[in-house]
Amino acid sequence: MSRHVVGIDLGTTNSAVAYMKNGKPMLIPSPRGQRIIPSVVMLDMNGQLLVGDVARSAQVAMPDRVIAAVKRQMGSHATVSMGGQEFSPTEVSAMILRELKGYVDREFGDGEKEAVITVPAYFTDEQRRATKQAGELAGFVVERIVNEPTAAALAFGLDRLEEEQHVLVYDLGGGTFDVSIVEMMNGILEVKASAGNNMLGGEDFDWLLVDWLATKFRKLHGLDPRRDIRAKSLLKEQAERIKCELSYAETAAVHLPVVTMKDNKPAGLSLDISRQEFTVLIDPLLLSTMDCVRRALQDAGLTTGDIQEVLLVGGSTRIPRVRELLVGMFGKEPHSEVDADEAVALGAAVQAGLKSGVLADSGLIVTDIAPFSLGIAVAGQRHGMKRTGIFHVIIPRNTVIPVTRTDRFYTALPGQRAAKVEIYQGEHEWVKNNYRLGEFLLTGIPVNWSGHEEIDVTYRYDLNGILEVTAKCVKNKKEQSLTVQDALERQSAEALARSSDKLRQLYEQAIQHEEDDIPWDEDEDIFAAEDEEETDERITPEELRRQLRLFDAKLEKLALMSDKEERKTIGQLRRKLKDALDAGDGDRMAQCLEMITDFLIEAQLREDT
Ligand code: ADP
Ligand code: MG
Repeated sequence: MSRHVVGIDLGTTNSAVAYMKNGKPMLIPSPRGQRIIPSVVMLDMNGQLLVGDVARSAQVAMPDRVIAAVKRQMGSHATVSMGGQEFSPTEVSAMILRELKGYVDREFGDGEKEAVITVPAYFTDEQRRATKQAGELAGFVVERIVNEPTAAALAFGLDRLEEEQHVLVYDLGGGTFDVSIVEMMNGILEVKASAGNNMLGGEDFDWLLVDWLATKFRKLHGLDPRRDIRAKSLLKEQAERIKCELSYAETAAVHLPVVTMKDNKPAGLSLDISRQEFTVLIDPLLLSTMDCVRRALQDAGLTTGDIQEVLLVGGSTRIPRVRELLVGMFGKEPHSEVDADEAVALGAAVQAGLKSGVLADSGLIVTDIAPFSLGIAVAGQRHGMKRTGIFHVIIPRNTVIPVTRTDRFYTALPGQRAAKVEIYQGEHEWVKNNYRLGEFLLTGIPVNWSGHEEIDVTYRYDLNGILEVTAKCVKNKKEQSLTVQDALERQSAEALARSSDKLRQLYEQAIQHEEDDIPWDEDEDIFAAEDEEETDERITPEELRRQLRLFDAKLEKLALMSDKEERKTIGQLRRKLKDALDAGDGDRMAQCLEMITDFLIEAQLREDT
């Protein structure tokens, strides 16, 4: 039996969960039959948490009890307030994921569930980590973080294993924009380039319309309705409605008898807006997405003529102007078979199937890329002057992952005994404009003239976007390393424990209030799961497990370089391995280890001769 691994699209506006059923990705609906739920959370008067439709429909009436579009703040240190309590964006996302976990438990019964969660390709390292933590807070074991456009391409590619083509995925949702170029060949799906903006989406179009409406209102009544939180919510809701209507109609009407009160009298707004007027408002943003498309093409070394399919993903691609711009650029109609709203969740399920082993025999393989450049701060000459804080790239953006790269550096000062390795991600030539991931010190460098000691810095970036950095003094082999993810996780372990407690209290409180309508299983203490695992002290199987996971990664990599026949064998081996791991059977794990060792040795021998 395979493990239950589900795929989750945790969107700014909407979220969904899916899994592989009989070789096909399927969405898991809510108890009320919804395939997709709004990513909106509400803390009601009784202290009960509500997620989805109900929360969304309460937004205008109780804006201070409802949180929407929290994904836009993921990875930031901002807090959001709901019903007078403060929450981190991670906590709010965990509430949405907890709701989805309820659907999964309903489908499969209680017990541990693993999840693949998607994020915008252009999410930073920190935003990815926050997402992973949200998943864990919700009680999932987060198997992998996958890029949304890659997932969409997987949903598209599963039925087209034999085809050879370049697909451009244009994903414009509620809060983020991504474009990825994917090459499909012999069942291998290779991401060639990604670009995007993690702060651009339908929400921005709504707010532009809110501003437009507010300006009209102010001309009429002489006051800014955005100052009144309820009026602001009302205008936002109307703006979204107008926007969607304008995707189908040439004009949309606004008729609001009461927007807010002025001198104790209702002040309203009635007007029409044309599609043309709306397009003018949002065009600068849409044109900027086309710049990203051009950049991705350039990074992939392709021209528009090389793209066989344009795949539209995300609700905002229903805007006619989006289609028009893409048709203008590529000279062909975008693909419309895969549902724009479901593609990401379905693709996440495919990725989950690859992870769990149910798709091991399909021959489908996906490779992804690092969306940002990764590098180190160095000193050097710039504009004729000696400067520090120059960004030296070690792994350029769009490099296929997993990847390992080493660059050699030299001491900058005479007698220098230690070197600080400062790790950054970004595209700017100065590190101060990039995103800092961490730092460590390499000590014990022999005393020498400046520039005479060589230091090798190695960056290892794995499939989950986890970066490990090692610095080594070439002469005396002294070495120091840092796993960025680990370092940051340790830092935030305390914060995570605090969040667990807070959420648990919230859920318990809700259960006390609503004893007959419990949206999740109260017996299942999701926050205790970790402790239980730790008391399970079978050390040898743990080590076995670790080794097997390492081998699994090796096999996955090897499969990329193999022919179809060998890929099948590898698929079977990986499936055995997964089954043994799932069963937790020590003997079978040991057996697998032996089999895979043999296989890897043989593969190595073949390569050597
Ligand atoms: P996310 O992935 O960010 O959750 P979705 O892909 O679900 O987002 O898209 C949601 C966005 O699409 C929202 O901003 C919504 O207003 C917008 N949207 C949905 N339908 C339409 C439409 N018919 N016309 C324009 N925008 C739409
Ligand atoms: Mg989306």
